Amino acid sequence: MITVRDKIKRQNRNRFAGLSLWLVSMLALLAAACSSQAPTASPGDASQPLPLPVVEPMVSAGQKLHVVATTSIIGDVVRQVGDEAIDLTILMQPGQDPHSYQPGASDLTAAADANIIFINGWNLEEGLVNDLATIGNKAVLVPISAGVVPRVLSEEEHDKETHGEGHSHGPVDPHTWQDVANVIQWVENVRQVLSAADPANAALYEANAAAYRQTLQQLDADLRTTLGAIPEERRILVTNHDNLGYFARAYGFEITDSVIPSISSLAEPSAGELAALVDTMRSKGFCTLILEATASTQLARMLKSELTGCADVHLIMLYTDALGPAGSGAETYEGMMRANAATLAKELSR
Ligand SMILES: [Zn+2]
Repeated sequence: MITVRDKIKRQNRNRFAGLSLWLVSMLALLAAACSSQAPTASPGDASQPLPLPVVEPMVSAGQKLHVVATTSIIGDVVRQVGDEAIDLTILMQPGQDPHSYQPGASDLTAAADANIIFINGWNLEEGLVNDLATIGNKAVLVPISAGVVPRVLSEEEHDKETHGEGHSHGPVDPHTWQDVANVIQWVENVRQVLSAADPANAALYEANAAAYRQTLQQLDADLRTTLGAIPEERRILVTNHDNLGYFARAYGFEITDSVIPSISSLAEPSAGELAALVDTMRSKGFCTLILEATASTQLARMLKSELTGCADVHLIMLYTDALGPAGSGAETYEGMMRANAATLAKELSR
């Protein structure tokens, strides 16, 4: 299996292959003299930030970069920076679950033709990334979350996760976009990569990135205002997919047991896990359950029939791993985060 980290290492190795031997020797001597602790992460250390690949100019002035983005959320952020200057293909449609998405023939054609492929990183797109790495052989594969300090799962979370049906994200949480600060890092990554690949448009990418960074800073401030108005004891998330960890940490929420106790939405809960969740909700007197728009609602509805102590069980739909359809107000990353905050403020304040 070619991991993303392997591919980036290979890309960076190829980039440096032309350096003459004496320079390599000098660098080796220098490295040895400085410290034995290299700042780069070893391939096995998944808790370190992912590296941003080294990118060479790929098009000359007047040519458009061919760019592929995997998820609808990544696609929106790349479009904000690249706008009309790039030829962008977004593989997943609004509402599509990145964990279970399988590439179609047109996706593979786009990947084969791409200069750059933006992926999330940390194996979010479980069924997709290895195919892209193989097919998009001439493309640079860029984890858009590069440089983000990942949320390392607790031993308990990780233990639960390995019970999933062979779907594993490893020991870190890939849902980085749930904290706006991380998406500000995404914007900087996209700007750097596009500018390096297409220097003729570097000023345009810089201007677009600067404008969007301001939008995101305002978004972050507004989320804090909206969510901060929810009484603290009500800031508890009961959710069917462990994808709100970054959100909870950034905006002051607690997360209780999940219906699907896995980072991946592909894992099925056992009867015991469902029973435990019912117990938790009963003991806390909690009658509000958060669902994600990309998940099946069947399990939560089953649960609703179990919580007989609740006069009413509220099922809140949030947009988590994908943008919403046209007309939903969640067609962009900014709109999605605003819609979620408004829903939480309304439902958790009652
Ligand atoms: Zn997810």
